[in-house]
Amino acid sequence: MNKPNETKAAIKRISSDYDKEIVLVSDFSAFDMKKAPLYDAVILDFTDKKGCLQTLKLIRASFIESVYLLPVFILSIVELKNEEIQELSDGVINNIQTDAINSFVENVKIKRKQLKPFTPSPEIDRNQIKLLRYSFTREKSLKPVKDRFSVIGYKYPLINLSVESKDAGAEMKAITNAVEENFFRADFIDRMHLCGKCYSGFLNFKEVDPETGDAHLETENIIHHFSCAYVGPESDFSREDKLICPKCSKTLRHIGVDYDKPSVMYHSIESDRYFQDPEMKAECLNCSHVNDIEGLVQYDLFELHLTDEGKDEAIQPTGSQTAADTVYSGYITYATFGTFLRYEIERVKSSQKNSSIGLLRPAITSDIENDLGHQYQKLIGEISAFVVNNTSSSYILSRSVNSFFILMPETPIDKCNLAMNKMKKSLETLFENNVNEHNIDVHSSVREITPNSEYQTVLNDLRAGILKD
Ligand SMILES: [Zn+2]
Ligand SMILES: [Zn+2]
Repeated sequence: MNKPNETKAAIKRISSDYDKEIVLVSDFSAFDMKKAPLYDAVILDFTDKKGCLQTLKLIRASFIESVYLLPVFILSIVELKNEEIQELSDGVINNIQTDAINSFVENVKIKRKQLKPFTPSPEIDRNQIKLLRYSFTREKSLKPVKDRFSVIGYKYPLINLSVESKDAGAEMKAITNAVEENFFRADFIDRMHLCGKCYSGFLNFKEVDPETGDAHLETENIIHHFSCAYVGPESDFSREDKLICPKCSKTLRHIGVDYDKPSVMYHSIESDRYFQDPEMKAECLNCSHVNDIEGLVQYDLFELHLTDEGKDEAIQPTGSQTAADTVYSGYITYATFGTFLRYEIERVKSSQKNSSIGLLRPAITSDIENDLGHQYQKLIGEISAFVVNNTSSSYILSRSVNSFFILMPETPIDKCNLAMNKMKKSLETLFENNVNEHNIDVHSSVREITPNSEYQTVLNDLRAGILKD
């Protein structure tokens, strides 16, 4: 009934003990991207190396969540050293073990269930959300890999596939933004020096004549003849295969005994100039700009690890207007809160009366949230109501996922501290009484708003204070 096994099936369903749609793709022309969301996992056969890589990239380049978050494995009997494949795939396997694949798929599913829908808007950086969500669902860091086709010479494969503009600046900006917002912890990998004009990492470092910029140089030893103290280039001494001093006509015998070579001299071939110190330049092989060394852009590469902030942002992007943001009365959205904070700083400048700002965050990890299930929403609702009822009506409140921001106009920092500590204790009691199986701490942080405060710094410090708490 089965045809003789002449050709491999283009897309083969892998049977397993689990109710999962896992397919092995060998013929990539038969793979339909539109069907990707129907699978639980795909295994790409590395036998067709080009097709395999292309399909892997197409999947990860998508902005459709059910496509780019799809578990993808690479089947290869040979060991693969390709770092890009490691970064973009969920693993290179040499045989198909459905147990391992199934448990990976289950883990990703659990994480994906936590992701809240968001409405795209101009404030939302969907590229950033993609990075966060990919990293979150895999519990995987993002690593840069060497790539001679990338302008910098390195790339973050997922970011590289996702930024619209292919110039290096866009990719660098995406990373800087995410790190500045504390969504990733950055571990140093390497330091690059890039063209100051176009950010290219392809530079030709060369010594040039400081007068003419000419790189066609030769070096010559300087000879110091001890007995007559004459100093001059080696060519002045060369007579056939001997070294004879042009001043005293003695034959030079032993280096270190009757003469020395204290330094070298540069000779510019074209202009026949001699000079001591050449200049170092870095010519860009991408845009031809000749950079001074000081003019190069120093750029550090990092391995990016998702922080708790990043996890929150992955689950529910801030600035996204979802129902959950407005459900609790007494709160304003985070974006509006930001505007209020800006006004408040201006007001403090003219009134010279300092204000304070506080942040409360119950340490509810995504695991605890999962565990609590429906109880979580109820609990967070109770906390929200509690915060509203226990703060002065002149305070401005904003809630973002489970972070509570409290702006206290004309409130000195010590008074703010007292209020926050009291609230923190009360919330911890509230958790104790409502959640038996977990011990939930409440982190808090406060900052003073002075005439010198800067809006973004205040918010960053406030968040950083939580991490140190
Ligand atoms: Zn001499
Ligand atoms: Zn350049």
